[in-house]
Amino acid sequence: MFCDFCRGLLAPILLAESEPLAAGGPLMREVFGNIPPASKLVFYLLALVSLATFGYGIYRRVRLWRMGRPVADRLEIAAVVNRWLRDVLFQRRIWGRGLASLAHVLLFGGFVVLLIGTTLIAVEHILAGAVGRPASDPIFHKGLYYAIYEVTLDAFGIFFLVGCTMFLVRRVRNPGSIGRNSTDYVVLVTLIVIGVTGYLLEGLRIIHAATPSPGVSFVGLLCARMFEAAGIDRAAAGLWHWSLWWLHAILALGFIAAMPYTRLLHALAGTLNLPAQTKQLGKLVPVTMEEVEETGLVGVGSLTDFSRRELMALDACVSCGRCEDACPAFEAGKPLSPRDVVQDLRGHMTLVGAGANGASLHGDVIEAETIWSCTTCTACIDVCPLGIRPMDYLTDMRRYLIGEGSLRGAPANSLQKSQRVGNPWGLPPEERFDWAEGLEVPTVAERPDFEVLYWVGCAASYDRRVRNIARSVVRLLQAAEVNFAVLGNEERCTGESARRMGDEFLFQELAMQNVETLAQHNVRKIVAHCPHCLNSLRHDYPQMGGNFEVIHHSQLLRELVDAGRLPLVDEGTPADAAAREAVTFHDPCYLARVGGTTEEPRELVQLAVGGANANATTITEMPRNRRQTACCGGGGGRMWFDDAVDERVGQSRVAEALATGADTVAVSCPFCLIMLSDGVKAQDAQTQVRDIAEMLADRLPQETSDTGAK
Ligand code: SF4
Ligand code: SF4
Repeated sequence: MFCDFCRGLLAPILLAESEPLAAGGPLMREVFGNIPPASKLVFYLLALVSLATFGYGIYRRVRLWRMGRPVADRLEIAAVVNRWLRDVLFQRRIWGRGLASLAHVLLFGGFVVLLIGTTLIAVEHILAGAVGRPASDPIFHKGLYYAIYEVTLDAFGIFFLVGCTMFLVRRVRNPGSIGRNSTDYVVLVTLIVIGVTGYLLEGLRIIHAATPSPGVSFVGLLCARMFEAAGIDRAAAGLWHWSLWWLHAILALGFIAAMPYTRLLHALAGTLNLPAQTKQLGKLVPVTMEEVEETGLVGVGSLTDFSRRELMALDACVSCGRCEDACPAFEAGKPLSPRDVVQDLRGHMTLVGAGANGASLHGDVIEAETIWSCTTCTACIDVCPLGIRPMDYLTDMRRYLIGEGSLRGAPANSLQKSQRVGNPWGLPPEERFDWAEGLEVPTVAERPDFEVLYWVGCAASYDRRVRNIARSVVRLLQAAEVNFAVLGNEERCTGESARRMGDEFLFQELAMQNVETLAQHNVRKIVAHCPHCLNSLRHDYPQMGGNFEVIHHSQLLRELVDAGRLPLVDEGTPADAAAREAVTFHDPCYLARVGGTTEEPRELVQLAVGGANANATTITEMPRNRRQTACCGGGGGRMWFDDAVDERVGQSRVAEALATGADTVAVSCPFCLIMLSDGVKAQDAQTQVRDIAEMLADRLPQETSDTGAK
């Protein structure tokens, strides 16, 4: 009735009535027991097909990545291993999203352990086959090793199933949480069926092989008891085992084959992308004249202008939406979702790779308005669990738009003014030092032996409201007898805004002028009250040959307080009168998230408000604080866009600050001061917005009060 091949394939059915194996013997596991040779042969052929399909899928994606520019920088092996362990194996970046994070860690952990377990079984089978051992006599799946193996796999199998189920429930309850992709349901159900059939197989194997019922296979044993209770004897178990084994095997092989063609690709691309992330927050890759001469363009004009690493990172995106949730531009209703930017670029990459490259990157795929909506707050980079940098794609594309001269209006004027007179306000360079009138502020020329250079920045030099920050910083430094000096009229805009707006060569021009000036005056240590200037001096300037120790004024002032050098008083000062006022503190993106400075400003605010009772003074925190702060809307050149106040990014932050009921919103960035002040004013609120230096200077004795012009 059956040919030899079919007889072999159907052996478990035909032998269903055969005698049971003898019970007893050492603790061990049959490998490929109850699977006849013909089934094994078919399995191995299918495995080859599965691996080939997997390999082809990977090959297709790698070909797409290779459309990009080669990356010149070399990765350090030790750092790569460290990041791989931290971010891939231990999933450090996944945490922070409650149950979604837990689900991912359970699924990932379970998957990795089950994969290792299955690989060990394959190794056992190959070795046993090589030395001619039967399934009932494994080489190493026995004894203590096997006991540990079984307990571990059974436990991690449960984690795996719980993780998959949590994700499935999340998808069903919140279908938009990760984009709308029906294959996700298929993938999750497949994974659950693979996990469940794995346990059922274990139970059936325990009955059929009649090996000692090892308590170590605690879930498998439970399944075996259920089967026995349902009347499944050894013969029937063999039949069920064989049938389920095929279902399990086909699903597992199908899953492997499908990986590069579904969202699961993120696991592979992410495993490569995360360890390759060498860039710190706040750092941008410079463009060199050599590159421009070679390629004939600045920035990214078409998909192939992105680097290979950037194209690979697109495939790592799992569309989780964390970046979108963190994006202040998206929150403000601007036409920018970092998730959509990455997903649209990914879709474009696939089309370009397929030769359907009619669409233009600029305009058809990503609109200019999207590109200009970014405040470069870095939140999207910071929250991405896969190490993707949506902001960098936007900055790359900005560079191209600037090169094409397509930026118009007020922001373009700010760049022209910076080029012409060294500041985006367009005011005369000889007026840069006017802010210091009446304060006897030493310049580097007047005090060449200064220890620390106070970097004033354009806002404090030219904006009449922001000037008071610089005047307050100076009063505090003078009161603490700090040996400082300023560049005065020799200072130029750092070029930070220009760089984040994509005008790389204007930035380089301004930075080189400043680096030269700073070198002439032998500057080693710089204090800045502006986190944007600070970041540029700290991260951008070393790329231009300027290496300095750069600190924020909150850090220096905190040091001076600790050293007892600031003669702060409790009574008879403006701060004393305001001591009972409620206060909240707004963390600037470039100070808290990029620079990692969050506590020093708070301590200064407490001191400024509480005086002698500083420790008992509490700041009413906004829901989003410290590293998870919300952007004021002024970064990335958005300061220069002439949006109506209620259309600006950051209005939700103003509402958040007002909702605390604070009388004062303390800030530590001139852009934040301007943006939040405008927002508060537009709400007709009486709340003050003040820099921490202004607040602290109010605690200076009255004889050091500011009598200079403002
Ligand atoms: S870029 Fe990162 S954070 Fe944003 S959707 Fe993709 S994986 Fe999630
Ligand atoms: S940097 Fe900030 S504003 Fe720009 S895309 Fe990322 S989250 Fe949005």
